[in-house]
Amino acid sequence: MITGAAGFLGSHLCDRFIREDYHVIAMDNLITGDLRNIEHLFKLENFEFFHHDVSKFIHVAGHLDYILHFASPASPIDYLKIPIQTLKVGALGTHNCLGLAKEKKARILVASTSEVYGDPLVHPQTEEYWGNVNPVGPRGVYDEAKRFMESITMAYHTYHNVETRIIRIFNTYGPRMRLNDGRALPAFIGQALRGEDLTVFGDGSQTRSFCYVDDLVEGIYRLLMSDYAQPVNIGNPNEISLKDFAEEVLKLTGSSVKISYKPLPVDDPKQRRPDITKAKSLLGWEPTVDRAEGLKRTYEYFKSLPKEEWSRQPK
Ligand code: NAD
Repeated sequence: MITGAAGFLGSHLCDRFIREDYHVIAMDNLITGDLRNIEHLFKLENFEFFHHDVSKFIHVAGHLDYILHFASPASPIDYLKIPIQTLKVGALGTHNCLGLAKEKKARILVASTSEVYGDPLVHPQTEEYWGNVNPVGPRGVYDEAKRFMESITMAYHTYHNVETRIIRIFNTYGPRMRLNDGRALPAFIGQALRGEDLTVFGDGSQTRSFCYVDDLVEGIYRLLMSDYAQPVNIGNPNEISLKDFAEEVLKLTGSSVKISYKPLPVDDPKQRRPDITKAKSLLGWEPTVDRAEGLKRTYEYFKSLPKEEWSRQPK
């Protein structure tokens, strides 16, 4: 069972598990997702879709081997608009999924995030770093929901012997992201496609590292199949400043627009880079798609969308 299946990551996970010959139960309430991401799977016998809010009680008939809990608004633009649903899906949604895992004796993997490190005082971030989160800042609804998610998952592991896996996902990109979800990469590509200047917040010296979605999915798969219950970072350690990244996008798109600078949003992390020593040693995982290639594939996807989508507003 995959929650958040109609979203960016969830839909790629559905594809991967279908390719591995699993029967996939997909669940989503479409609050930020889009059925078009999975409609190509509807004709398959081993794919079922349930329109359901996972923050409400979940009932699934029959046996389950694995649960991948990916339902949650994931971009700041979404979770600032729907803060209570974000807290609920991280807390109640996770609780419901863990209850189901316990009932079905299924292994569960929950999608945590690099945001649990907040604005990190340690760089790069290892899994041992406890983070620097402002619980009452605007991003707190997401960061704290995910921190609670990790705690309750570990509690189910310790007290109920549920087989749990926790992945801390760092910025991931690729086809099926939404152009206008407020994240830097689709924002830049969208602006370049529309012929608008690229907006960089602050002076652009803040860094990000971007992982291509196929690499992430491989990491998720390997972690799920491993026997490691502590959190594992999955992300691309190749770090770049947002200013340099904006310039890469301009070069790729051949756009002649400029970069314009705006004030930095509150609590915007200044640096983000995963330490992936654990993923390498435990899972034999490391990213294989470099930014030039991943960016090209992502740009081709966005360019292939109908032009009216280039200016579609966030849900
Ligand atoms: P997304 O918004 O594309 O997908 C999330 C999906 O969850 C959507 O289809 C949405 O409709 C669904 N959803 C939200 N609340 C729900 C609820 N209560 N019940 C049922 N469905 C619900 O986001 P994404 O980028 O695919 O992120 C997926 C997961 O990965 C999230 O948990 C997110 O926190 C985590 N994550 C993503 C990234 C990233 O870079 N994309 C980084 C760190 C963590």
